[in-house]
Amino acid sequence: MALMTGKQYIESLKKLDIKVYMFGERLENPVDHPIIRPSINSVAMTYDLAFDPEYEDLLTTTSHLTGEKINRFCHIHQSTEDLVKKIKMQRLLGQKTASCFQRCVGMDAFNSIYSTTFEMDEEYGTNYHERFKKYLELCQKNDWTVDGAMTDPKGDRGLSPSQQEDPDMFVHIKEVREDGIIVRGAKAHQTGSINSHEHLIMPTIAMTEADKDYAVSFAVPTDAKGVFMIYGRQSCDTRKLEEGADIDLGNNTYGGQEALVIFDDVFVPNERVFMCKEWKYAGMLVERFAGFHRQSYACKTGVGDVLIGAAAVAADYNGVPKASHIKDKIIEMQHLNETMWACSVACSAEGTKTKSGGYLIDLLLANVCKQNVTRFPYEIARLAEDIAGGLMVTMPSEKDLRGKETGPWVKKFLNGKVGTSTENRMRILRLIENLTLGTAAVGYRTESLHGAGSPQAQRIMIARQGNLEAKKEMARRIAHIDVSKDK
Ligand code: SF4
Ligand code: FE
Repeated sequence: MALMTGKQYIESLKKLDIKVYMFGERLENPVDHPIIRPSINSVAMTYDLAFDPEYEDLLTTTSHLTGEKINRFCHIHQSTEDLVKKIKMQRLLGQKTASCFQRCVGMDAFNSIYSTTFEMDEEYGTNYHERFKKYLELCQKNDWTVDGAMTDPKGDRGLSPSQQEDPDMFVHIKEVREDGIIVRGAKAHQTGSINSHEHLIMPTIAMTEADKDYAVSFAVPTDAKGVFMIYGRQSCDTRKLEEGADIDLGNNTYGGQEALVIFDDVFVPNERVFMCKEWKYAGMLVERFAGFHRQSYACKTGVGDVLIGAAAVAADYNGVPKASHIKDKIIEMQHLNETMWACSVACSAEGTKTKSGGYLIDLLLANVCKQNVTRFPYEIARLAEDIAGGLMVTMPSEKDLRGKETGPWVKKFLNGKVGTSTENRMRILRLIENLTLGTAAVGYRTESLHGAGSPQAQRIMIARQGNLEAKKEMARRIAHIDVSKDK
């Protein structure tokens, strides 16, 4: 089965015995849990759109390994056209779900491990690349959602992995056996973890020889022995448990998901190990994954499209769509959103072929893209809140709208433009609340800041990739500077 439908995907998750904890208790049925289900619906969209003739070209492609039709989320980019199609798919999914649809972390892990293992094998004569190709074929054939996992808890940020008092602060190799390795540690805030069939682990930072036990990459099924998750809560999440609070959710169908994933002495057979102590290549893997995921933040422009639309609809209900300052704010939101998009397109169009044949984005432009993403969604959110008005955070609940005694008063006093529906006005304001302060704000705001690396990580890469020396030389030449005259 090379392509699953959304329904088949959800059924396939039910067959896994995933160990998940929420509010201190193990969940019996995570797939149908009301707090989790919207995030599963978002991933399901990545499956369903593959069958939609309108979007088939973006959501599906041909495997370079088998020649079969596969979901693009399992693909190794074969050209810059592929890189551009990837981000068009992500913007589309952001528009369709107004949330994080989670499956990109696996796609970005596939692409970074694919090219890194090739170059690693070239230097060391190892066979990680062939192993990885076999694993990738399995993912493509089964149309799996794979959780690419990079971020370790990190403990004391001033210390390297091997200097930590608690060695588990970074995922590490505890034991090397003839048939595989035993790993231990955790990955923090893992997107879509519970909704994934597999976990694909990578190191989180560049390593030195002293850290070689932490230079490890491997894949495990999500329900492997010793793997379990603790669900990450989101603001307003328990509204999903309330009866009659659909309007209050803002987006009652889709959502994102993060969790703390723990590896408590997990055995990984050799055929699923893709890096084992080759510390020199940890940095390359991190740099490439981070670069791909910084390109991926085109997803925020899709969610931004929904937020801009919501602000404009709110302005309609408020009766001020023609006010010049409102029009100008909406123009500014669009300008910021398209600036992020332009950077994501640029880093894709300027991609290059790696030795493995897979294509890599332009790293400088991908980092500039993500640096903008650490700022612009905040400004877009601020403008959306400005246009929406304070009612977005002070209005009564859906139950008050439906209440026998309260309903008529809510309908009367929360009405905006004459002739429009109070309920609709409440719905659009709650959507803005969801995107800027509620469950989706995890993906749209704070994840924009910290996801795929916090702002400083991009600034380090910009400094490294920006070639300042060449720029200084350009200036010296124009100014006719003779450096021999300088002491
Ligand atoms: Fe994909 Fe965006 Fe979610 Fe990352 S934050 S997994 S790029 S939707
Ligand atoms: Fe992310």
